[in-house]
Amino acid sequence: MPKSTVSEPSEIETKSVSSALAPSRIKQAGKSFNSFQIAQSQFDKVAEYLGLDAATRDLLRYPLREYHFAIPVRMDDGSVKIFRGFRVQHNDARGPGKGGIRFHPQETIDTVRALAMWMTWKCAVVDIPLGGAKGGVICDPHNLSAREQEQICRGWVRQVAKDVGPISDVPAPDVMTNAQHMLWMLDEFEQIHGGHFPGFITGKPVGMGGSLGRTEATGYGLVFTLREALKELGIRPENTEASIQGFGNVAHYAIELYQRLGGRVIAVSCWDQSDGCSYTYRKRSGIALTELLSIADRFGGINKDKAKGKGYELLAGEEWIEQDVEILIPAAIENQITGGNVGKISQRVRIIAEGANGPTTPEADAQIRERGIHLIPDFLANAGGVTCSYFEQVQSNMNYYWAMDEVLGKLDAKMTSAYFAVSELAQRQSLYMRDAAYAIAVGRVAQSCRDRGWV
Ligand code: NAD
Repeated sequence: MPKSTVSEPSEIETKSVSSALAPSRIKQAGKSFNSFQIAQSQFDKVAEYLGLDAATRDLLRYPLREYHFAIPVRMDDGSVKIFRGFRVQHNDARGPGKGGIRFHPQETIDTVRALAMWMTWKCAVVDIPLGGAKGGVICDPHNLSAREQEQICRGWVRQVAKDVGPISDVPAPDVMTNAQHMLWMLDEFEQIHGGHFPGFITGKPVGMGGSLGRTEATGYGLVFTLREALKELGIRPENTEASIQGFGNVAHYAIELYQRLGGRVIAVSCWDQSDGCSYTYRKRSGIALTELLSIADRFGGINKDKAKGKGYELLAGEEWIEQDVEILIPAAIENQITGGNVGKISQRVRIIAEGANGPTTPEADAQIRERGIHLIPDFLANAGGVTCSYFEQVQSNMNYYWAMDEVLGKLDAKMTSAYFAVSELAQRQSLYMRDAAYAIAVGRVAQSCRDRGWV
């Protein structure tokens, strides 16, 4: 497949926000549920806790709008193929919809509906004035040329050009879409509307309407919340050690900032492509980030022979969770802290900060709650990414771009106040942090719907 010409990292805002909800594990007692049903049942629980009235429940259980359309594409061999595209706008009571566009062969409308709903809650918990949306095309970019992908991007925009835009619904990259796809979409939107509208879409490269700080935003955002949690628990960062699963974009910047605060990372685990399994790399005196980055590939895999040569112990992949540390940061993939391994978490662990989406299964979550470990839930801990996308949108709408310090200062302020709001509610009402985060997010959206007179 010809490579796309712009290769910024994909801006994955949210694949899922709760371990209970990831499509890969939605099978119970032999019965399959789809992710939308699970998102709805999770919403139902929060709605019950908040005592929402029937009309508000009925409104928020479903998307406000959804668009299903065909995208005809003339393929390179001269034939015409019809691709199916979607855009779901779950709720825009708090502001324009926000959410990525996924290119995936197994895309379904119910996955897109669930992801749109989760974006509504994620934007609300960090209190950015955006709603939740998601889009997708059923296709496999691995089997498509760059020209064919461009035609899909342009066709997607042509079908919804009147229903998306800087003041209504702002897409972004997601699974298998990147900055190049966003630029093709922006160009098509601008051709149709006759002007420059860089605020139509985010995830653009810096210099073409992208924001400085977006690459760092998710990892740094996580550490801003971690820093506040440590303060609350009366623990000094320099007296802590951490073990991290993942060595990609989120982990990289989380490690960098945590180390700058004085913390020591003693183990990271990552996937080894050649062996088809993961390994944990441990150095009890603390890993050296630049050293490990110099022997890692662009997918966040570490060269194990070189690591051994540099004095790292090579342990089994799952051992990251057993380390005797104060802080665990799952920042790789979903479904990693399970009923099977939660019991291996050291008694010394005080905080789990979820960088990945849905890293914890419901069974493990119940035990973490029981043990009183302070959990910073995924859709709060990793919301730095979407927060910086919001900053990109604001800068694009003004056509005036901020320096790195300004972006990161604003990110810190947003993440810190979001953390405080969740933690304050958790303490006041003796709630688990994940439940408090959901209560705040759903409560804010419900209130906006009431304030507008919708319900
Ligand atoms: P990435 O692709 O850059 O890195 C993923 C890392 O996880 C790699 O080091 C890989 O080796 C490792 N990994 C994969 N499978 C593993 C396994 N079984 N055991 C141990 N390590 C494994 O991804 P990323 O952008 O850092 O994202 C990580 C997580 O954070 C994902 O769940 C993503 O959805 C979520 N997230 C990312 C962003 C963002 O802005 N990048 C925003 C919100 C949420």
